[in-house]
Amino acid sequence: MVRSHELGFDLIEFSYIDPSQVDVKWLAARLQDLKLDVAISMGLPPEGDISSDDASTVAHGTEILKTAIALTRDLGGTKLAGILSSAHGKQEAALTRKGWDTSVTTFAKVADYAREACVTLNLEVVNRFESNMLNTAAQGMAYIADVGASNVFLHLDTFHMNIEEADVGLAIRHAADKIGYVHIGESHRGYLGTGNIDFAAIFDALVAIGWQDYVTFESFSSAIVDRALSLKTAIWRDLWTDNVALAKHAHSFITLGMETSRLKAELTQKAHLP
Ligand code: MN
Repeated sequence: MVRSHELGFDLIEFSYIDPSQVDVKWLAARLQDLKLDVAISMGLPPEGDISSDDASTVAHGTEILKTAIALTRDLGGTKLAGILSSAHGKQEAALTRKGWDTSVTTFAKVADYAREACVTLNLEVVNRFESNMLNTAAQGMAYIADVGASNVFLHLDTFHMNIEEADVGLAIRHAADKIGYVHIGESHRGYLGTGNIDFAAIFDALVAIGWQDYVTFESFSSAIVDRALSLKTAIWRDLWTDNVALAKHAHSFITLGMETSRLKAELTQKAHLP
């Protein structure tokens, strides 16, 4: 946390944090001392899948979401993100219409609870191997429209978009007014710029839609990331072990990338007449 602050980050994201395992008050105070904003991300487990046909599974998922919302609030944050509308993990069957409707109805109630806590819900759109529900931004927007709550947004992640979207930049532009949270990650989840994602196009799109909010760097290595999450995200190769060097690089990469796209946007708008 101290290092995140020292390296110039304004926000820290905690993934799959269990409130019973942390001193929430202490953590909230430390975040405030460091002037670090906080976001919470998670994915529902199979036994808490709110798109399930089983009512007790849906009820359990509802409780998990409420706990995460309360934790976000208690840490001083306003954003809960991640795979919130269905289970995180590879599914063996396609989602049914009934599953979609169950999830939407349940999520609308969860959104009411979140509104009272002043927390927004940001639905992470992930690739087909991690969910059978929201794989594209367009699907996410349809889900938000069905839920009909003003505090529900999209959580877009370049790693997943690179797999599923027809065009990442166009998808960002199309979803512009519903984007609430952004993850930036490389195609192999390692150092930004060392994989095959076209980050210039992504920064251009974020600048074009006037994105002023956080761009949260996400990377995985079993050297540091929790074992369960490493398994879930299929981290079979560790592309780094030094998290400080990685974070330093990511911060420069994002700052320079956004700055370059802003300069490009300015140039295209300036006529430079004699
Ligand atoms: Mn992500």
